[in-house]
Amino acid sequence: MQKQLPGKQEAKLGTLNDRPAGNIICGQGMNLIFVGAEVGPWSKTGGLGDVLGGLPPAMAAKGHRVMTVSPRYDQYKDAWDTNVLVEVWGKTGSKIYGPRAGMDYLDNQLRFGLLCQAALEAPRVLNLNNSEYFSGPYGEDVVFIANDWHTALLPCYLKTMYKPRGIYKSAKVAFCIHNIAYQGRFAFSDFSLLNLPDQFKGSFDFIDGYEKPVKGRKMNWMKAGILESDRVLTVSPYYAQELVSGIEKGVELDNIIRKTGITGIVNGMDIQEWNPASDKYIDIKYDATTIMDAKPLLKALQADVGLPVDRNIPLIGFIGRLEEQKGSDILAAAIPKFIGEDVRIVVLGTGKKPMEKQIEQLEIMYPNKARGVAEFNVPLAHMIIAGANFMLVPSRFEPCGLIQLHAMRYGTVPLCASTGGLVDTVKCDAVDPADVNAIATTVKRALATYGTPALKEMIQNCMAQDLSWKGPARLWEKMLLGLEVSGSEPGIEGEEISPLAKENVAAP
Ligand code: ADP
Repeated sequence: MQKQLPGKQEAKLGTLNDRPAGNIICGQGMNLIFVGAEVGPWSKTGGLGDVLGGLPPAMAAKGHRVMTVSPRYDQYKDAWDTNVLVEVWGKTGSKIYGPRAGMDYLDNQLRFGLLCQAALEAPRVLNLNNSEYFSGPYGEDVVFIANDWHTALLPCYLKTMYKPRGIYKSAKVAFCIHNIAYQGRFAFSDFSLLNLPDQFKGSFDFIDGYEKPVKGRKMNWMKAGILESDRVLTVSPYYAQELVSGIEKGVELDNIIRKTGITGIVNGMDIQEWNPASDKYIDIKYDATTIMDAKPLLKALQADVGLPVDRNIPLIGFIGRLEEQKGSDILAAAIPKFIGEDVRIVVLGTGKKPMEKQIEQLEIMYPNKARGVAEFNVPLAHMIIAGANFMLVPSRFEPCGLIQLHAMRYGTVPLCASTGGLVDTVKCDAVDPADVNAIATTVKRALATYGTPALKEMIQNCMAQDLSWKGPARLWEKMLLGLEVSGSEPGIEGEEISPLAKENVAAP
């Protein structure tokens, strides 16, 4: 039996207090509005939440004015009402999210349509007049950064509901693809639900060979987001290449993206949340100079998941959504092929129920060697990243892959099947993800380096990388300035901070 794990309840939902304070200087800069279905630390199911929790503060740190618009799911502890009600499409003042989690809402099209309209209204209607909390109205010269299919209607509404009325005349939309596998494909007959004129039908029109959600002609939200935005981006240069490489990696939108073009900017990571020298979830803090002493002590993690503690044994970690993309089935098939070695493995993930069952079986199959925890548990994720020596990432494809970035910062060497956003300087074993034997062989080779100078060197290489948002934010700025929205100016070259910008402070 495993011990009571830390932080199960607070796992998904952070609060503002999780962020350290910092000062922010507002230059002229740009007016940016990020829009997405999740935003860390408040709501997160994966990398999208991390990016929307990290990139906007990094842009604010460069002196740009930044707002992030995301659904107000019921659970936030520190949410407060703006008392601003806007009539969009006949729904006013009703809260549309409940405590239920884990399944798609049947009316997601309506919900995400409302999110897009809310994002378009927010800068116009929120009371941001000069005060203790705000630095003045936003104005209309803004850049919207729409993220993934949930926000694809934003450029369409901008074009039909605002620009023709002389509003947001010079505003532009950048559309960022975090994962092309999720496109928002619906029955074409649902087009009438979107409140858009027929001229947009072509942008949504899509035929595929699948019978879900309906046979034949469909609407594809992501396709429309790509076509109707002013610039298309994605989360790594490598993924940008993959998206245009063909039908398989571009998941049937490759031809569309080839037309519009796409820019890949690698994600950064939140170097304050993920900092081994100050991580609140780990007992032993460390840096590149103390890691070799700290790692054995951090193996107390084994006790936390119910394994016997051995401070000298190499430990492998896996964290991720349990589904085909992440290769959790490959992991399950590979474990028997290397578990005979002197090794322990801890797996953390939620997702498809059969795969959750599969990882929970590890305890029964390998009681002294392996544990699987089917929870979304942020504290445990930190403890695994810190306590493991190797992080196994057997993903079939990886747009960027924050797990391996987090791992590197903690001197935990990633063993990856897909390149994603990995920086070239870190040597990483890329193998054919479907090849279970190759994954097992890679693990064995990695285990053979345990305790050798070669591993020490790899650890130091990993920890020496600048994985922060600072570099990516510079590239994002350049790209967004290129949209030439009136009044846009470069920001300042500051230190990366996770700032409590005035606007981020919860009002009394
Ligand atoms: P993706 O965005 O495809 O899910 P990434 O590797 O880019 O994958 O990001 C995953 C993020 O979600 C990381 O911050 C990781 O720590 C977190 N995460 C995934 N599964 C869990 C889990 N079961 N418990 C806690 N955190 C998790």
